[in-house]
Amino acid sequence: MSFMDSFYGEKNLYEISHGYVVLIIFYFCIHILLEAVYIGCGCTPMAYINIISILIYIGLYFLNKTEHKIIVAWCILWDIFMHAVVATVFMGYNSGYFFWIISLFSMLFVSFYVPITNAFAKGMAVVYGTLTIVAFVALKYLADYGYLPDKYVPSPGVSGVLFVANAIIASSIVVIQLIVYSHHMNRYNATLKRMNDTDYLTGLYNRKSMIALFNKEVDRMDKGESGDISIAILDIDFFKKINDTYGHNAGDEILIDLAGIFRSEGEGKYTVGRWGGEEFVILGSYELSYDDFCKELENLNKKIAGTGFIADNNELTVTVSIGAAHYESGMTIVDIVKRADDRLYEAKETGRNKVITRRENLLD
Ligand code: GH3
Ligand code: MG
Ligand code: MG
Repeated sequence: MSFMDSFYGEKNLYEISHGYVVLIIFYFCIHILLEAVYIGCGCTPMAYINIISILIYIGLYFLNKTEHKIIVAWCILWDIFMHAVVATVFMGYNSGYFFWIISLFSMLFVSFYVPITNAFAKGMAVVYGTLTIVAFVALKYLADYGYLPDKYVPSPGVSGVLFVANAIIASSIVVIQLIVYSHHMNRYNATLKRMNDTDYLTGLYNRKSMIALFNKEVDRMDKGESGDISIAILDIDFFKKINDTYGHNAGDEILIDLAGIFRSEGEGKYTVGRWGGEEFVILGSYELSYDDFCKELENLNKKIAGTGFIADNNELTVTVSIGAAHYESGMTIVDIVKRADDRLYEAKETGRNKVITRRENLLD
């Protein structure tokens, strides 16, 4: 789990969850290893300071079981920073602890490209990022001018090994953070796209997506690909009465159940989107002829009429009226929907629970 998650606030779109356990155990193990290194090198101050870190991670393991994930994230960030600074002071610049500080620079910019909701977290990120840069420069200065104590600096051999180990682990963590972060961003983008393309209640495509799908089919036809474009508008009969009798929630449940029927019946043959309210648009698959599309609509109509819907613990039947139209060259979505709508109107006028697909059926 990326550190950056800590900035999304408690109510965020991403789940801050089990990932921290992995981080806590990982850093706990690193500190145990470091304890051996510090004792082995005879670096007493670091051996004591490191015990504090070990205790902190034991505490964080339990804190992580509560709702305070943000505090856990911040404690990890501060532990890494403080430990890297103090270890640079006692173990010498050449032991490479500064790599950890570098890996934290990006925190300064996090608030500018991550949607942090909370002003306090935003401020903390800026302060933290700035401090890491200041500490990095200051340590370099102190090291170069000989202000760092050399009493506990390990031999060049040990320093060299620590330098490489710190470089590898700290940079891998940056890479892991980026991977986790981009994984979250991809998921977040997919969620946004789904929210933008579909109807919240039924999960069906919304009007905008259906228009886009229709235009895509028109492009195919314009390119000379053989196929048919068929559209239908479906409207639930007397839906207002269902709402009035059983309540709006029951009405919503029926819309959801209908969407399920549209999906299972339409698979591979047509796509249904919510046109608005209790009206749906049906786009026939490009490979399906208009005649076959009309047969499918008849089947759908019968299937719905034969289904028992549950509304407020009552079983009831729901019927729909459908008007369909066939695309002719040059038609816009407005033209074809208008034609389908006229036929839907005719279906309503002539008794409902039916499909009207042809001009000949018009009354006039
Ligand atoms: P008709 O057979 O002529 O279509 O009659 P109708 O009652 O279905 O038509 P009308 O246009 O009078 O009413 C449509 C109703 O659909 C009114 C509105 O409250 C309901 N409706 C629209 N969207 C939703 C929704 O998302 N949920 C629920 N529960 N009802 C909705
Ligand atoms: Mg209607
Ligand atoms: Mg209706």
